[in-house]
Amino acid sequence: MKVTEHIAKAKGKTQFTFEILPPLKGQHINALFKSIDALNEFKPPFIDVTYHREEHIYKDRGNGLLELKVIKKRPGTVGICAAIQSKYKIDAVPHILCGGFSKEDTENLLVDLDYLEIDNVVALRGDSIKSETYFTPNKDGHNYANELVQQIVDLNQGNYLDKELLNSYATHFCIGVSGYPEKHMEAPSLESDLYFLKKKVKAGADYIITQMFFDNQKFFDFVTKAREEGITVPIIPGLKPLSTTKQLNMIPHRFHVDLPEALIKEVIKCKDNNAVRQVGVEWCIQQSKELMTADVPFLHYYSMGKSDNIKQIAEGVF
Ligand code: FAD
Repeated sequence: MKVTEHIAKAKGKTQFTFEILPPLKGQHINALFKSIDALNEFKPPFIDVTYHREEHIYKDRGNGLLELKVIKKRPGTVGICAAIQSKYKIDAVPHILCGGFSKEDTENLLVDLDYLEIDNVVALRGDSIKSETYFTPNKDGHNYANELVQQIVDLNQGNYLDKELLNSYATHFCIGVSGYPEKHMEAPSLESDLYFLKKKVKAGADYIITQMFFDNQKFFDFVTKAREEGITVPIIPGLKPLSTTKQLNMIPHRFHVDLPEALIKEVIKCKDNNAVRQVGVEWCIQQSKELMTADVPFLHYYSMGKSDNIKQIAEGVF
């Protein structure tokens, strides 16, 4: 079932959803299933599964030469989605990227997803890989997420890359895209970021899911500005509870979001990470409750594969 159909079915009730990431290569999938088991009682209508790009590493060949290896540390997005749908009968939403994909790769991926009866995708550009300063698209790949959205919409209309395909089947993907209440790190202003967000929606995105934020006012202002721009699709807030002192620096650095002073002060007072985890849970419960009163369709939690704090939050909210 499509994310938009889940919204319609809920008739205004806010629902619980979450995002997981595939395990590191070499780890068993059971740990991931255990974290889903722990959250299953909150009846998520869908679970997002992130996609992780390749990395370039250099191996010392021992003769003064370095060998470039292209590796994937977290493969398995599509397999995990298929496993979730089969094991839990919950819709799985794979994230798909421009980065690392040619248009042909994307089309083939979408064909696989369609065969697996996966009805939803989140279409993203992706970040630059670690060895690049700026995002570089694949040869014959997409530069920006709006182009990827367009390709999915084309397939939904039965238009494949090979124009000579006859009687081609039209897929029916529901398409999510990202939004950034505190603007994307590369955007010169929030206004310009919203301009390009509208481009993704015009191309055919069905809903927006936001980057994490810790100050609800930033989300409310973002929604107001998006509506003023004429963006009418549902906007789903993404939430992440803080869980370690280290994240005070890591989160602003990595995700380009600010932390409210009151939250920072509470974390600094903590004696250990158990106490930080509790502060993070309580902050996120307050955020969630306020967002619920604003009638958001879902509260979408970034679990990062750890379910205990998300479970505590869900118990406090749903
Ligand atoms: P875009 O929407 O393409 O925007 C990128 C930048 O370019 C923005 O600054 C925008 O303002 C600008 N821009 C957009 N369109 C144009 C245009 N046509 N011309 C000029 N400028 C333009 N990363 C992963 O690797 N895997 C994941 O699973 C993943 N999941 C995510 C889920 C969510 C909810 C979010 C918010 C982010 C996720 N990311 C993920 C991170 C994301 O890939 C990065 O933030 C990436 O840098 C931007 O992707 P985007 O789709 O937002 O890009």
